[in-house]
Amino acid sequence: MAARSLLRRVRESLSPTRCPVCGRRGRPTPARAVLPQVLVRDWGLDRRWQELMNEREGRACPHCHAPLRVQALTRALLGEAGRMLKRRVGQPRDLAKGPRLAIAEINRIGGLHEALAPLPGHIYSEYGSLDPAVPSEDLLALSYADASLDLVLTSDTLEHVPDFERALSEIHRVLRPDGAHLFTIPVIWDRPRTRVRARMHDGEIEHLLPPSYHGISDPPPPTCLVFHEFGADVVERIEATGCRLRLIHDDRNPALAVFVTQPPL
Ligand SMILES: [Zn+2]
Repeated sequence: MAARSLLRRVRESLSPTRCPVCGRRGRPTPARAVLPQVLVRDWGLDRRWQELMNEREGRACPHCHAPLRVQALTRALLGEAGRMLKRRVGQPRDLAKGPRLAIAEINRIGGLHEALAPLPGHIYSEYGSLDPAVPSEDLLALSYADASLDLVLTSDTLEHVPDFERALSEIHRVLRPDGAHLFTIPVIWDRPRTRVRARMHDGEIEHLLPPSYHGISDPPPPTCLVFHEFGADVVERIEATGCRLRLIHDDRNPALAVFVTQPPL
C-alpha cells in the first residue's frame, strides 16, 4: 500500500499538469461529450465548437474533478488574489491564512465551491435559493454594500441574465476600486455578433428564438434559460459599460477564456 502510494506520488510529480484547485498533478481526464444534442442544435455548434465546448466542460482534473473551465477561472482567481495580497497564492486554501479577502461566489461553481467554502471571507449565494442557509442574490440588484467586496466570481451565469451589461455595473458597484470580477461565459469567438434569444418586455420574458436551456436536468430549471449567445462583440459591449477588462486566453482552446473586469476608474 505504501509502495503504491509512493508510486502514485512519483507519477504525479512527473506530470506537467498541476490542477490549481486541488494542487495535485495529473493528466486531465479525456473529454466527455457533455453537451446535450438539443443544445448543440439550438446553438448551431459545428463539430469544432462542440469539441472545444466538450473539452471545456467535460475534461477535468483526475483528482478533484474540476473541469478545465473551472481550473482556468481558479488560475485567474489565484492571480488576482496574489496581486491584492502581494504574495504568491498557489491554491485556494492558501487564502485561509493572512489578510482576509471578501470573495463572493454568486451561484455555485461546481468543482471550486468546496475549495472556497472554508475560506473566512467567502460569501456564497444562489439565485432563487429556497434554502434558509443560502441567501439568494440577484445580479441585477445585489444586497451588498457599495465597494464592499474584493472579488466576485460568476461562472457561466451572465448568459442567463436578461441585461448582462446592467449586471456588470451592479457587480462593479459592490467591488472595491481595486477589486475584480472574474468570470466565464460561453463565447463562440468566430461569430462576430451576440445573438439575443430572449429579452424582458414589461416584466415578461419575450422569446425571440425558441427557448434554449443550459444544464441537463429534465425539465431544465427556468433560471437556465439562455438570453444571450455571445459572439466576439461581447468584448466591445463589456468595455462600453466603462469598466476595465482583461481577457485571459488559453493558447489551445478559445472556449477557455476568462474575463477579468474592474470597476470604472
Ligand atoms: Zn484538482
